[in-house]
Amino acid sequence: MLMKSVFFPILFLIVTLSLPAESKDVAKKKKEPVSSSSNYFVKKDEKNFSLVLEARRFGRGEAVFFRLTPKNKKWINESFKAFWMGKEIFLTKQGDSFISFFGISPDTAPGPMTLEIQSKILFVKRGTKQYQIILEPTKFQVIKKQSIVVDNKFVVKELPKETLDFIKECKEAKEAAFGKISGLQFSDQFRNPLESIYITSKFYVRRDYNNKIGRPHGGVDFRGKIGTPIFAIQDGTVVLARKMYYEGNFTILDHGNKIFSFYMHQDEIGVKVGDKVKKGQEIGKVGTTGMSTGPHLHLGAKIADTLIDPLSLIALSEITEPK
Ligand SMILES: [Zn+2]
Repeated sequence: MLMKSVFFPILFLIVTLSLPAESKDVAKKKKEPVSSSSNYFVKKDEKNFSLVLEARRFGRGEAVFFRLTPKNKKWINESFKAFWMGKEIFLTKQGDSFISFFGISPDTAPGPMTLEIQSKILFVKRGTKQYQIILEPTKFQVIKKQSIVVDNKFVVKELPKETLDFIKECKEAKEAAFGKISGLQFSDQFRNPLESIYITSKFYVRRDYNNKIGRPHGGVDFRGKIGTPIFAIQDGTVVLARKMYYEGNFTILDHGNKIFSFYMHQDEIGVKVGDKVKKGQEIGKVGTTGMSTGPHLHLGAKIADTLIDPLSLIALSEITEPK
């Protein structure tokens, strides 16, 4: 018994060390001894830095957290750039690390995804290094027969000019709000938007509206009675708070670095544009305004214009600076 218990850890150690340093990165499920998180991690311990990527899953529609820690603390003041699928991502200094967030588009084609880090200090010869991450297959739910009653004003083809003008104006206001760029406004985990959580419709579900296949569901629906308090899922700034045609009473929070959360169909909006809100602060009340079939909260989230499942953002556990 004694031999066995000594032998196994040694064997494990040898196997770990003999893995080639440049081995292809495959997202691995890692059991964290400290947290009960079932998230997936990619951890790379390189000569000059360590890299951690965390996601609920490395799949379509998921948020990914990024932390790069140079081994020499002085390097934190050097120039670093990172690119996700060829698009630059915002890096924010947090203690001795750079952190960032990016989204895997729900419409991403199957195959490996690339993360590139550019730094003259870390990669003296080439100035750059690429990592490949294997995309996990995801099947979004399709609900073919679901009888929901939508007010006819949302499905008729020809709408009066005032309505069309209002829809256009709503769209422009939304685009302007999502176009805001600010620095990261938070440094810890997200939270749920309601006190009691019961999900009635998942992210990217497709369903019928009066026998016409609707667009994929751009967020998550939470059950809630009219008047139930809605809480900000993270610190941020209100960039839109108004009545919209489809979204009803609608609030968009800017959390910085092009991370937004948004809250639809509210009965009442409790904040105004420009307000700074704290995570957990009440920002409105559940309702059924706009294109809605009953009282609920539709929560959405975006990172750099990529729509993601807000629950994947809420699930991230490594945002807080390690001690
Ligand atoms: Zn919804």
